Amino acid sequence: MVQAWDRPAPEAAPQARVNAAGLDLPGLQRLLADLGEPAWRGTQLFEGLYRHRWTRWEQFTSLSKELRARLADTVDLAWPGLVQSRASEDGATKHVFQLIDGKQVEGVFMPYEGRVTLCLSSQVGCAMGCTFCATGQMGILRNLTAAEIVGQVVAMLDHHGHPAEIPVNLVFMGMGEPLHNLDHLMAAFTILTDLKGLAIPPRRITVSTSGLVSGIERLGAHSKRPRLALSLNATTDEHRSRIMPVNRVWNLDALAQALGRFPLQSGERITLEYVLLKGVTDSLEDGRRLAAFARRFPSKINLIPFNPHEGSGFEPPDEARVGALCRLLVDAGLTVSVRRSRGQDVAGACGQLVRNLRPGARPTPEAED
Ligand code: SAH
Ligand code: SF4
Repeated sequence: MVQAWDRPAPEAAPQARVNAAGLDLPGLQRLLADLGEPAWRGTQLFEGLYRHRWTRWEQFTSLSKELRARLADTVDLAWPGLVQSRASEDGATKHVFQLIDGKQVEGVFMPYEGRVTLCLSSQVGCAMGCTFCATGQMGILRNLTAAEIVGQVVAMLDHHGHPAEIPVNLVFMGMGEPLHNLDHLMAAFTILTDLKGLAIPPRRITVSTSGLVSGIERLGAHSKRPRLALSLNATTDEHRSRIMPVNRVWNLDALAQALGRFPLQSGERITLEYVLLKGVTDSLEDGRRLAAFARRFPSKINLIPFNPHEGSGFEPPDEARVGALCRLLVDAGLTVSVRRSRGQDVAGACGQLVRNLRPGARPTPEAED
């Protein structure tokens, strides 16, 4: 049976004018060659876009006035627009980005001591249909382009006046299944990590997947790539298939084998995210099976108490159970953290990112604002 994620996700409609924002270095060089300019000017353009984060042509003072005017006449410089920013009490800010076709996605800016983590979207909606996830309920609308992925980073850093010396971590844990949009994701990764631009180290970029084994294999074939996190979320095939349809195609054993084959660098570990759903995935037996799964390859575990959303039918676990599971895993010799649901009071926490509900779908309070 053909699954929704077997088909490529729809792409953004092509635009009439070229957009420089989101082009890689060869793309910028080609663009300038078309204007009769030498290739090295492409580097100046790249640095202006991604190192200086200039957003208007007149800011590109490294180029001649004449060239700036020609660029302004013929080439767009359009990042996704920031249409809403809501700060939460815990310091996180949820941002809503408006894309060129009016669709919206969300990103979250989370400052910590000495670093900042940006949670990014990779698609509008998601094809994977996980039953506990608000994004999963809206289905897939389309892939984000590389420009729209990089644009979330540029816009959030800009909005918060983020100083270049503070390290930036990126996690693809917003809307969408990043491995269902691997080509645009890797194009964005190339731009984000380039030392002439944002220069974010690859080890500071993490892609979270629901377990799309074909995508895990494709990602593993890249010599330079982001780190991998797997949303495990259940420890028996019966439970996992019920809440994550992808498990009906690649079950727990197939997943563990794929992760065991994933070519890790020295010291690198795969993060196992585990959403705790009260009475469904949070038993002590689950904890023991999770420990056994985690031992099959170098890993660390991130327990995520479920963030409730309207109509989900699931509940968050009791605090005491979260503590007991954490202890069980630590006693088993594993590295464990519990994710604080940053931004929960503004509906920016994981799995609460819902925008552009399909016609006829039941709106959540978040989608109505
Ligand atoms: N599609 C990717 C990345 C986006 S989801 C993936 O599934 O991994 C990011 C994380 O949020 C995943 O670990 C997912 O299991 C988790 N998540 C989804 N809905 C959630 C909810 N309501 N509460 C807590 N975590 C949730
Ligand atoms: Fe998609 Fe991830 Fe939500 Fe599953 S948990 S529906 S893969 S965004």
